[in-house]
Amino acid sequence: MKKRHRFMAGKGLKDVTALNKCSACGRAKRAHVLCPYCVQSIRRWFSTGFRSRQETEVGKEEFYERYNEERRIQGKEPIDRLVEEEDSEKARARAKAKSA
Ligand SMILES: [Zn+2]
Repeated sequence: MKKRHRFMAGKGLKDVTALNKCSACGRAKRAHVLCPYCVQSIRRWFSTGFRSRQETEVGKEEFYERYNEERRIQGKEPIDRLVEEEDSEKARARAKAKSA
């Protein structure tokens, strides 16, 4: 065993005992630290311009309707929204796998 490993022995991470419940969502979180679930939901909220999930869904619906209308005028096949979203999801996963 290396000398460094000998010195590192017994200096691992300690168990976190300072836990409590998030007052907003009720999940367990570390005391005096922001709840990661709530922080994520607030970040999502910022990225969507303070719209509710329902509102963003409606916005997407409208976008696809307008887009398909344009395609119809150009004489192209309309795009199925669900298929499109699945494709973009796959593309994102591929990009992630490539960068990792
Ligand atoms: Zn929370």
